[in-house]
Amino acid sequence: STYHQVLEENRQLYNQVQDLKGTIRVYCRVRPFLPGQSSRESAVDYIGENGNIMIVNPLKNGKEARKVFSFNKVFGSNVTQEQIYVDTQPLVRSVLDGYNVCIFAYGQTGSGKTYTMSGPDLTSEETWGVNYRALRDLFQISKTRGDVIKYEVGVQMIEIYNEQVRDLLVSNGSNRRLDIRNNSQLNGLNVPDASWIPVSSTQDVLDLMKIGHRNRAVGATALNERSSRSHSILTVHVYGKELVSGSILKGCLHLVDLAGSERVDKSEAVGERLKEAQHINRSLSALGDVISALAQKSPHVPYRNSKLTQVLQDSLGGHAKTLMFVHINPELNSIGETISTLKFAERVASIELGAAKSNK
Ligand code: ADP
Repeated sequence: STYHQVLEENRQLYNQVQDLKGTIRVYCRVRPFLPGQSSRESAVDYIGENGNIMIVNPLKNGKEARKVFSFNKVFGSNVTQEQIYVDTQPLVRSVLDGYNVCIFAYGQTGSGKTYTMSGPDLTSEETWGVNYRALRDLFQISKTRGDVIKYEVGVQMIEIYNEQVRDLLVSNGSNRRLDIRNNSQLNGLNVPDASWIPVSSTQDVLDLMKIGHRNRAVGATALNERSSRSHSILTVHVYGKELVSGSILKGCLHLVDLAGSERVDKSEAVGERLKEAQHINRSLSALGDVISALAQKSPHVPYRNSKLTQVLQDSLGGHAKTLMFVHINPELNSIGETISTLKFAERVASIELGAAKSNK
């Protein structure tokens, strides 16, 4: 009967996953005003039910400019970490059926990327972000399927800083530089030499993430003294063996906390900071180009334009599924960044929606 339960569960999962297949989903999350910030001046006019968000921009002549952007979902500032995860879960669970999934956090520094992916306080499970919830979920489900499929889970954690790939799961703090090589055996991450650590509990993952975060390159800018100038990728590899048939499933989940998307001039960057900012801008636009090309089913997908897209090449195309969380800082003085973030997100999201409509 366990077997039939699992089949039924699989069928339900399959149905949930069907509508996500081969598509990019974009969720927009609006950060709340933080203590000390004036909420009277908000760039967000309203959030609609159908994934719409309206931005309001006061003009010099006393009038206001309004613009609506549309996504798969928009989460307002009162939405909890748990509610966010409910809409992420089907995608995460599909990894146990052998899919490759990428989840990205995009937005300017301070807009809530790390909050969504990791959470503000690891000691409180209620505030856990997508990373920990996803792993907890994968462990739980793999346990309930244990009589039918035996799963093994392993993680890798890398960062891309100034177009160099480094291993974050090293204990001595010497961020080892890694080469990119296509390696379809590894299934999903083209850095075969990155440390690969088997994990069997959420605690294992918490311990590893602590090491990873310590090793992450963090620089100071005028915009935010601890702004992240690197992309970090936590990859969860799942390997399942069906006990009766002996058949093998491989899936992987990439949880990607992108570097801040703010434009160069605003952080008054020169020298090293300018170089960082240029690398970041280039890799984020390369990511946008790849996702757009895939959505348009373009014969040429420009993976080679950045390390980020090369590393994730096998997990962005084909039957892989992508979810992008775009983060908005509601303050009026961030409206320039907010609009460019929303435009980037709309470019990534709307093409396939448009194509799907015209196919009908
Ligand atoms: P980023 O990773 O984009 O630089 P952070 O995740 O560090 O931004 O968020 C900036 C600040 O805003 C942090 O103090 C964080 O705790 C807070 N914050 C972000 N999102 C939320 C949210 N949804 N609810 C409450 N606080 C948030």
